[in-house]
Amino acid sequence: MRLSFPASGGWITGSGPTLKTVNPATGTITAEIGTPTASEVAAACEAALQAARQPAWRRLKPHQRAAMLHRIADELTREGETLAHLQMVENGKSLKECRAQAASAAATFRYYAAVCETLEAAMPPSRGEYVNFTLHQPYGVVAAITPWNSPLTMEAQKVAPALAAGNAVILKPSELTTLPGLELARVCERAGLPPGLMSVLPGHGRDVGATLLNHPAIGMISFTGGTATGRMIAETAARRLIPTALELGGKSPHIIFDDADLDAACAGVLDGIFEGMGQSCVAGSRLFVQRGAHDAVVARLCEAVRKLRIGTPDAVDTDLGPLASMAHRERVEGYVALARNDGGRIAAGGKRPDHLDCERGAYYLPTIITGLSNEARVCREEIFGPVLCVIPFDNEADLVRQANDTVYGLACGIWSPDFKRAWRVAEAIEAGTVWINTYKQLSIAAPFGGFKESGLGREKGLTGLRLYQQTKSIYIATA
Ligand code: NAD
Repeated sequence: MRLSFPASGGWITGSGPTLKTVNPATGTITAEIGTPTASEVAAACEAALQAARQPAWRRLKPHQRAAMLHRIADELTREGETLAHLQMVENGKSLKECRAQAASAAATFRYYAAVCETLEAAMPPSRGEYVNFTLHQPYGVVAAITPWNSPLTMEAQKVAPALAAGNAVILKPSELTTLPGLELARVCERAGLPPGLMSVLPGHGRDVGATLLNHPAIGMISFTGGTATGRMIAETAARRLIPTALELGGKSPHIIFDDADLDAACAGVLDGIFEGMGQSCVAGSRLFVQRGAHDAVVARLCEAVRKLRIGTPDAVDTDLGPLASMAHRERVEGYVALARNDGGRIAAGGKRPDHLDCERGAYYLPTIITGLSNEARVCREEIFGPVLCVIPFDNEADLVRQANDTVYGLACGIWSPDFKRAWRVAEAIEAGTVWINTYKQLSIAAPFGGFKESGLGREKGLTGLRLYQQTKSIYIATA
């Protein structure tokens, strides 16, 4: 049976080709989903614009929108287990990680409910016989395009602030992971969100996604995905002269100075690259270790990595599940082969695990590579898999030069008890997020985004709401 999706104010099956999603742990088909034709995409965009313009939604006061977001958060909390399973059977992440991400989706809606209740607008000091103040108004219809690695969190991070800002949203989830987005739409409906304000258009980016972004009803694009796709989307947005927020790829440096607490640093490095099988935009994939500590760090990491439990994503003791698809595993294997050819030493992993059915499941061992310089292709290109390259450095200047020698600028981690040094390096690193003596701590209250080719604009925090609004200045004469 082909699953339907919410569009044009109801649920339709779609007359486009059937999209099949696959469980990467078993190779079996998870769902068959209808996709929209170009005319169904157009109808969905027009219906969303109508819904966004309805006075009942446009004039809803922010505290009333907050009540709606709280109801969505309540439903998401009730549905947490279902949502976690839906993500797990499409992208293979461990159930414990999926559960944490489902909880984070609910927390995101609560955060933006609170923002609606408390946000203030500016009233600049008057420069004449008038008062002047600022309104922040929605764009109308926001197109949200998401990747497959963490749909639960990414989709909440776009849908919650876009609705909080007063828009309608059309979500185009990754073709690999459609079910969490469909469930989010069902949750919104149950919470009482009026029809047409939350649509989901399943399908491939090159057809459904591109058709969506070119429709004149779309007033703003919020995209998370790869840098090459982001560049294409920016071109569309430039041609259409509409704003776009881009959260893109990364090749983040993780740094250990020789005075660091090596136990804590190695634990942070392991989580930073291997959690979610390295399929995280902020994965710390280039590890820079001060030369004196290099061999000790590699030995510790190799010992610890062998203790990680690779297994089926739903098993309680699984640390790491499969990669998200067979095609992605092949891509990761290609990079490891490249590292070998370039003279890299595989210090751990570098192959499929023996104890799992790797014909059906996209399993791969977490891999540590040494002996390459920052110039090697595996150190320059985003692998988006469980592959860590360890590179020595001599001093702070050498480190900063190497760490910044990348087109990306998403995140960075620094391990050292010398606060002044950590602060200097944090300031010098070209990245949107820097962690000191921790890694991958993320707060919905803190702005998030990339420098350089890792993105444009900032999601999350108060700026995450303003991203979905345009500013209007109003002057009223007082004399
Ligand atoms: P991708 O760029 O291949 O696809 C992302 C989304 O864009 C999918 O929904 C896809 O269907 C759609 N798409 C593709 N071509 C399109 C087009 N021409 N028009 C409209 N939509 C199109 O990325 P992916 O493989 O799904 O995800 C992995 C990438 O996402 C990695 O590079 C990762 O770093 C990045 N990512 C970034 C962040 C961040 O916050 N910076 C977070 C998660 C993932």
